[in-house]
Amino acid sequence: MENLRFKALSVAMSHKEKEVRFPDRKASEYFGELTFNRAAMREYLTEEAYSQVMNSIDKGEKIDRKIADQVAAGIKAWAISKGATHYTHWFLPLTGATAEKHDAFVDPVEGGQGIEKFRGIELTQQEPDASSFPSGGIRSTFEARGYTAWDPTSPAFIMDRTLCIPTVFVSYTGEALDYKTPLLKASYAIDKAAVDVCQYFDKDIVKVYPTLGWEQEYFLVDNALFLARPDLVLTGRTLFGHSSPKDQQLEDHYFGTIPQRVLAFMQEFELEAHRLGIPVKTRHNEVAPNQFECAPVYEEVNLSIDHNQLMMHLLDKVARRHDFMVLLHEKPFSGVNGSGKHNNWSLATNTRENLLSPGTTPKANLRFLTFLINIIKAVNDHADLLRSIIASPGNDHRLGANEAPPAIISVFIGAQLTRLLDMISKNDKRMRLSTETDNDNGLLSNLPKIPEILLDNTDRNRTSPFAFTGNKFEFRAVGAAQTCAPAMIVLNLIVADQLRKFKNETDALINKKVHKEDALFKVLQKYIRESRRILFEGNNYSQEWMVEAAKRGLNNLPTTPLALKAFTSKNTIDLFERNNVLTTRELVARHEIRLEHYTKKIQIESRVLGDLAGNHIIPVAIHYQNNLIENVKGLKQVLDLKTYGKLTRNQMETITEISEHVDKIKTYMNLMIDARKEANLIQDTEEKAFAYCDHVLPCFDKIRYHTDKLELLIDDDLWPLPKYRELLFTK
Ligand code: ADP
Ligand code: MG
Repeated sequence: MENLRFKALSVAMSHKEKEVRFPDRKASEYFGELTFNRAAMREYLTEEAYSQVMNSIDKGEKIDRKIADQVAAGIKAWAISKGATHYTHWFLPLTGATAEKHDAFVDPVEGGQGIEKFRGIELTQQEPDASSFPSGGIRSTFEARGYTAWDPTSPAFIMDRTLCIPTVFVSYTGEALDYKTPLLKASYAIDKAAVDVCQYFDKDIVKVYPTLGWEQEYFLVDNALFLARPDLVLTGRTLFGHSSPKDQQLEDHYFGTIPQRVLAFMQEFELEAHRLGIPVKTRHNEVAPNQFECAPVYEEVNLSIDHNQLMMHLLDKVARRHDFMVLLHEKPFSGVNGSGKHNNWSLATNTRENLLSPGTTPKANLRFLTFLINIIKAVNDHADLLRSIIASPGNDHRLGANEAPPAIISVFIGAQLTRLLDMISKNDKRMRLSTETDNDNGLLSNLPKIPEILLDNTDRNRTSPFAFTGNKFEFRAVGAAQTCAPAMIVLNLIVADQLRKFKNETDALINKKVHKEDALFKVLQKYIRESRRILFEGNNYSQEWMVEAAKRGLNNLPTTPLALKAFTSKNTIDLFERNNVLTTRELVARHEIRLEHYTKKIQIESRVLGDLAGNHIIPVAIHYQNNLIENVKGLKQVLDLKTYGKLTRNQMETITEISEHVDKIKTYMNLMIDARKEANLIQDTEEKAFAYCDHVLPCFDKIRYHTDKLELLIDDDLWPLPKYRELLFTK
């Protein structure tokens, strides 16, 4: 059979830029046209139904049965007018992907005819069989039912002629089986806690909602080449591959001209995203060859997460039409940059203010500092939980490698803010910098003005896992393939919890007749001192930081099983329980699911690795070695002994090298298989994950080292897998 690699290469080279059919309307005219947005609601709902849905969105009020029927009728009419034939409840189970089960609108009626039906109950609640979704033991086999319930705060949309209704997903016994349920609870918690704190400063603030703007990095690989790499197909990353002589060292890809074929893909993707109301805004080349990024305008966190999920699906769908495959894996290629999903996060108010924007008056500054310091304190107290939430086998390869933040959680706020916080905590006299005076208390006017420079985002530290960037925090450790939901659940939860503690401590002082500003200030000073260790301005990639962080008592947890320990610590469980976001049972279940997921991923990779090394690479190596042996034998016949000895030396060396590499590969494969067998006997989920991590995984790099050496030795004509230079530079 012809070498699959060359077949794939010739198909890849025939791939041309696809034509994009642009609508003849302006983007503002088709933006959101496939969503049941407020305009569509106005048109399709009765006055009564419209106002109930609005109340439900804005105030979380329940929609009653009768109205639900009216809303369903409205959505149905709208969806059918857009060509929809089916509907589905769309949810986020704990697989991290989205789930849907489609039902047709059409129902048979007497006389062999059909009518489109969609009742309130079908809109608001469904009972999908939950038995094949991960539940971590929550769902018992005799009670496989799960419920999905409509989330009216995220608009229904139409994709592929199907009306998709965003929903939460809970078990029959009421436990959350998804990410949306705890996310909505965490958002509720931070709303309440932040409003209470805002009341110290501004009585008009009655609603606070978290905002999220993600940045999605991804790789594009030609479809034909992708299919010729079983490791990419089955694991999402390359398990082998010698680095390309040129990859990212010239820094010529980042922000470079977007290749035409890629641009066509991006344009079509953005078109579809915009019709679905996803406000994608920015597109550019990333650092590694064939790596790209897209980012939207930020939105309320729940909507933004749904949009990110939808966007990942769209990327994949549209890429295929352009003969590309999207790789969302955090580290698809070793030796070049991995892909992250930066989560830009802030808090917005009903008064249209950003609580993380430094204000221009002393009073606004105190509010800003209150939130800033409380967030720092929350991260300090729950750094290990934040680390655990972004742990995954893919992200383990990314964190700490090639310009990705390390596995040590720290906070960057810039040199000026750090100086300011230090001055505050030490009651430094130089705090009297402000020229503005405030009437009610001297302390306020002691607060220095926040330097203007902050507002233009200049001194950013790209190496920090959690950085303040002018008017928001950027959580950079989140992986490209992950849903933003877990990171956002935890971030909102820890800050909510911290804000409540802050309020309690401050009120306690106020009750003791301490002046309000004085009380606020005292508590903040204490927090700065308590969380000073988490602030780090230097280079997070450096070896010195590893040493320094250890001195400060900050953990460096490089692997998922280690990081996951914090996920069920007493600290974590109390936090989730106290805020009514997840119960112990739900947390333990999630912990189980994540450990199992880890083990299975490594197990799959290990099997693919064994198959590729044993059945694809070694046979080719032996084949080539035989060619060399034949050649050497032939030379003996045609050359005199002296010349023969001289000229075959190098070939003999290659023959020996190949043998040595093949031998090493075999040895480590046997070790890996034995380690796997042993690990598979372990019953305890955590112990098993550690066994995979500590004994199976380390064999990967050893095997890879030798196969990658073989790649350099063996006739290019015979090499079976598309090489890095082909995967990374075919566009
Ligand atoms: P970077 O320099 O990190 O690549 P970008 O300008 O590309 O930054 O991305 C900024 C991101 O921050 C965008 O996704 C944007 O939506 C988001 N963002 C801006 N303001 C806010 C905010 N107030 N809340 C949440 N996200 C925000
Ligand atoms: Mg960023």
